[in-house]
Formats: sequence, structure tokens, C-alpha cells
Amino acid sequence: MSRRDLLLYLKDLGVEEVSLPEDRAEAKTEWDPLTCTDLSTMAQALSTCQRCRLWKGRTQVVFGVGNPRARVVFVGEAPGAEEDRQGEPFVGRAGQLLNAMLRACGLARQEVYIANIVKCRPPGNRDPEDDEAASCLPFLRRQLALIGPEVVVLLGRVAARHLLGITAPISSYRGRFRRWEGMDVLATFHPAYLLRNPQAKRESWEDLKLLRRRLASSGAEGQGSEQGGVV
Ligand code: URA
Repeated sequence: MSRRDLLLYLKDLGVEEVSLPEDRAEAKTEWDPLTCTDLSTMAQALSTCQRCRLWKGRTQVVFGVGNPRARVVFVGEAPGAEEDRQGEPFVGRAGQLLNAMLRACGLARQEVYIANIVKCRPPGNRDPEDDEAASCLPFLRRQLALIGPEVVVLLGRVAARHLLGITAPISSYRGRFRRWEGMDVLATFHPAYLLRNPQAKRESWEDLKLLRRRLASSGAEGQGSEQGGVV
């Protein structure tokens, strides 16, 4: 008999309340995404999230992808149509450019981790609202805590605004590392912005060289050529 049938049967008998055995109550606590101790359990725990209105329009939660021990985490804004369809961040046109940016830094997509400020696609690709970002941010923070990266790269002003609280134009603070919660954080242009404004690719390339030097100074990654560029 399924749990539902059992409950209906008990209801027919006039039982109005059932208490969960101790171990079920504990299992429920473990299912809180913020108490999960690995990314895949956390992804499962979040897959039915309805904490903000974005669940209504999504196909699926786009949790994040990549190396759970990555030295670098890239954070974008929100999934777009293609990401919503495939369940993976940065797989559309902006994703192609992000892949090229990674290669220019000597990084493979599989060795970094990629996530977004919000995990569900906002309708019509609008910016996430403040309350949507606020309800999703604890999960990004938890992902960062589980991964423990050295460096976080914020892609675009929306990511920087919600994670660091900076509202100034991104051109005024991009291109330098700042220390934030035990990690080195670098804000740079969003790949979608670079697609619309190819003239900003030169500055973006300066930021990527900075990232590459930062990684090379403390490990084996980021050994690409200085003569690359954002294609
Ligand atoms: N833009 C983002 O900010 N994130 C994605 O995942 C895709 C496009």
C-alpha cells in the first residue's frame, strides 16, 4: 500500500493526526538544501524549490555545473531559455563565449564551476528581482562553501550587485581583485554584454590575464599564452 493510500485509509478510520517516526523527521532535516554536505544531494534537494515566484515559469532548476573542487567559480546572472531547457548554466551564445574566455585563460570548462545568482529563468530573460535574488543567494553561498574556491569571477553587474552589493557601473570596479569572505573576487563583463559590445573585449582580456596570473601564482592552472584574447 502506498503512503498516500495508507493515509487515506487512516483518514477513513477517523484518524486525524499521524506523527512521523524519529528517523523520518531526521531525514526531512537532511533534505534542507542548506544542510546538504555535497553538491549533488543539494541539487536534488533544490530541484522542487518554490521559494520565489520564478518556479512558475521554469522548466527546471539550473543548479550549477563543474568541478566540485574547482579553484575558480564563475557566477552569472540567471539562466536563459537554452539553460532552462538543458538544465545547465551558460550553454547558449553567451556560454560559447564564456567557453572561449576560459580557454584563453588556459582553463577547461570541466575544471571550473559555473553557477548563477538565481537558479530559475526569469520570464522574458528580465533581470532577477531583489527578493528573488535574496531567496536564492543562500544556496549560492552554500555551493561556494562546499566548493571552497580560491577565486570567484562575477560575470556582469547583476552578479556583482547581488553578491557584493555594488551598484556602481561595472566599468568603475572591474579588473581588480577584492577580498570577500575568504575568497579573491574579480568582477568582469558578462559575455552577453561582450556579444553586444565587442569593443569591451579588450578590457575583458585584461581581466582574464589578471585571473590567469592569479591562478598561476598559486598553482598549475592558467598557463595559456599572453597573446590570446577574447574571440
Ligand atoms: N547568462 C547568465 O547570466 N547565465 C546563464 O546561465 C546564461 C546566460
